[in-house]
Amino acid sequence: MMAQIIDGKALALEMKNELKTQIDAWVKLGHRAPTLRCILVGDDPASHTYVNNKIQAAIYVGIDAQTIKRSKDISEEQLLAEIEQLNADANVDGILVQLPVPETINERKICNAVAPEKDVDGFHVSNVGKLCLDMPTLVPATSLAVIQMLKRYNIDTLGRNAVVIGRSKNVAMPIAMMLHTDKRHDSGLGMDATVTICHRYTPKDQLEFYCRHADIIVTATGIPKLIKADMVKPGATIIDVGITKVTDENGKSRLVGDVDFDEVSKIAGALTPVPGGVGPVTVTMLMHNTFQVAQSRVGKSLTA
Ligand code: ADP
Repeated sequence: MMAQIIDGKALALEMKNELKTQIDAWVKLGHRAPTLRCILVGDDPASHTYVNNKIQAAIYVGIDAQTIKRSKDISEEQLLAEIEQLNADANVDGILVQLPVPETINERKICNAVAPEKDVDGFHVSNVGKLCLDMPTLVPATSLAVIQMLKRYNIDTLGRNAVVIGRSKNVAMPIAMMLHTDKRHDSGLGMDATVTICHRYTPKDQLEFYCRHADIIVTATGIPKLIKADMVKPGATIIDVGITKVTDENGKSRLVGDVDFDEVSKIAGALTPVPGGVGPVTVTMLMHNTFQVAQSRVGKSLTA
């Protein structure tokens, strides 16, 4: 049987419509529209595309979003000053600095400079710490997207075996964190799975072993076709976070994930495509975080 395709594009649209309704209601109550400022340094085409997608999604849901473009030659000091200005601006809710920043700039310093209560990427050290302690906080959008996809497709995680491939601090680690934690804890995001983390030093035979025993595989490596059909337990759920640009035999470039999609879709129970999987839901979760910031900054929430 063919795997159910977890349609990130459709899910993102559904969630953006929900968010749009909530933001409309928020504005009707007399609040100003939530605001988001994206700092984009340099001219990496992928970064420009990502930021543009975020701005488009923001416009759709009713968030006032602007990109602040800066040259790749900006100094760390200047960038820190820009962030400080946004931190101090009462009319700015969410702030993000599109990563990567140029090598001359210390990425961790930049992430820690964003005011934690405006940190819609969830990369500030205190927000990461809260996530690790299961405290309510701003959670990185990609990991929220993975969790939402599992929830909205009713994928059972309690007591199940999950393998996370990759250990990056911004993507894979928060996914592994939420997958293994206790749902009863304060954040309410715990998924109660038994989690194995694999990475570049996991021997290939061990990666295959863990994957074959997994009910859920989340892969975030950027290695095309890392996950082959013979590594997948029939009926398993696979969330593909990898995005790699490849050039086919006709010289045309396209995006692929970590999963050998054509073969794995014959054996998996549910599978996300690339593109059109985790990506669009990630952008939507960033909008969700921005609205969360806007609400908490005035000490109110639509639901509370
Ligand atoms: P991102 O930030 O998008 O998660 P990174 O490039 O920072 O991506 O991380 C790639 C991850 O993939 C790393 O954690 C690395 O250990 C993991 N990885 C690389 N090669 C392999 C491999 N052959 N098997 C398993 N994991 C791998």
